[in-house]
Amino acid sequence: MKKCSKCKAVKELSDFYPHRSNKDGLCGICKVCCSKESRERYVKNKDYILKQNKRYRQQHRNQIKERRKIYRTHKMNTDVIYKLSYGLRRRLNNALNKNFKEG
Ligand SMILES: [Zn+2]
Repeated sequence: MKKCSKCKAVKELSDFYPHRSNKDGLCGICKVCCSKESRERYVKNKDYILKQNKRYRQQHRNQIKERRKIYRTHKMNTDVIYKLSYGLRRRLNNALNKNFKEG
């Protein structure tokens, strides 16, 4: 059991996220407080965070593309439902686009 430094409640160790640099290897605040805090941080810095994410995507465009390709190939070989839905989605999009272009 451990006491959360924010809400002061005593909780199970599983209610704390791991934190390597802390003595006990766990975060000082509980998971509930942690998620509350990160949500508040997001709302406060929303513009900045979105801008950072956008910049990351632009700078790592090729890496992201490559990672997505690897994921898709893996899924195609292991997940039958994914394979079927991917094929159907592609055919449907092609059909819709074709009809749209032809009027
Ligand atoms: Zn707490």
